[in-house]
Amino acid sequence: MKEVYNFSAGPAVLPKPVLKKAQQELLNYHDSGMSVMELSHRSSLFEEIIENSEQLLRQLMGIPSNYRVLFLQGGASLQFSMIPLNLAKNKTACYINTGSWSKKAISEAKKIAGVTVKTIASSEEQHFNCIPALDQIEIPKDAAYVHITTNNTIEGTVYTKLPQTGSVPLIADMSSDILSKQYNINDFGMIYAGAQKNIGPAGLTVVIIRDDLLNQEAALSSMLDYKIQAESHSLYNTPPTFAIYIAQLVFEWLTELGGIAAIEKQNKEKAAKLYAAIDNSKLFCSPVEPNDRSIMNIPFVTNNQELDKKFIADATKIGFENLKGHRSVGGMRASLYNAFPEQGVAALIDFMHNFEAKHL
Ligand code: PMP
Repeated sequence: MKEVYNFSAGPAVLPKPVLKKAQQELLNYHDSGMSVMELSHRSSLFEEIIENSEQLLRQLMGIPSNYRVLFLQGGASLQFSMIPLNLAKNKTACYINTGSWSKKAISEAKKIAGVTVKTIASSEEQHFNCIPALDQIEIPKDAAYVHITTNNTIEGTVYTKLPQTGSVPLIADMSSDILSKQYNINDFGMIYAGAQKNIGPAGLTVVIIRDDLLNQEAALSSMLDYKIQAESHSLYNTPPTFAIYIAQLVFEWLTELGGIAAIEKQNKEKAAKLYAAIDNSKLFCSPVEPNDRSIMNIPFVTNNQELDKKFIADATKIGFENLKGHRSVGGMRASLYNAFPEQGVAALIDFMHNFEAKHL
């Protein structure tokens, strides 16, 4: 079998033991004579899967009982619209602009009639190479929420400290760092994430929302209404059953490994090694402010586009897949999600040393 290291930003590498278990159970799930894909979403076997997934996620993240966990579809991108639709009608919605995904969240919110969108801080002038200063942000007292992107997948930045929003709910797009490090759920009114990085396959979106934020609007389409989705336990319509099953296996894998504290330690070690290699190099450098560097997505450049291209081409030849930076920023990006193996980081660093020796 072809062995590769998959540095993709998403859909991303999944834990091998998870894929093996899914393979073992594929044709005959728990003696049902069927695969999970063929089970009714109303069957007791699937009910067990969705309930167990929720419980495992609750334990892993320490989700208090006054928060609902929803398994939805439409990607993190649909949340860009669902959030203002549910929470900001005839109100002001505040955003901190830290990169391409924040910008998309802002522009989708602006399309919703009756919502006033305010960008209260931005690092756009710094080309998003940092998180903006948060000590002087002004949040209107009656704001519906403050939205942040905790980890900026494309630019490689992360909040090291959360904005203080007082009684205004903080809403976080955690698509690219959910389950990678410890967060206190009580700091947030709502958290959401597309699954295809640290949770499982694409097609599933996880929403964690505090009870008091469930929609009170009468006229919202049912599929877009958090309250209806919560009341039907994510079974208003057919949910992405197989993606939820794989997420359950990922949550089991992470629990066995020691939970988020254990994976956070590993993630920090993996990232620190790669940052050290970049910082000690005479060829490669990091475009990101040292204090705000992500441990999930690590962009780096040679400052020579031709050399970047050669690096990516040579790396691909030896099975280092998806190292190309996002088309909007160029260069390279190594995404080191939870399931990315430590040996892969060591192999990349070796390759960088050899490349530097040849091309400096
Ligand atoms: N937010 C962030 C931080 C992301 O990284 C992504 C996807 N890479 C998205 C939103 C969009 O997610 P989706 O493709 O699930 O809509």
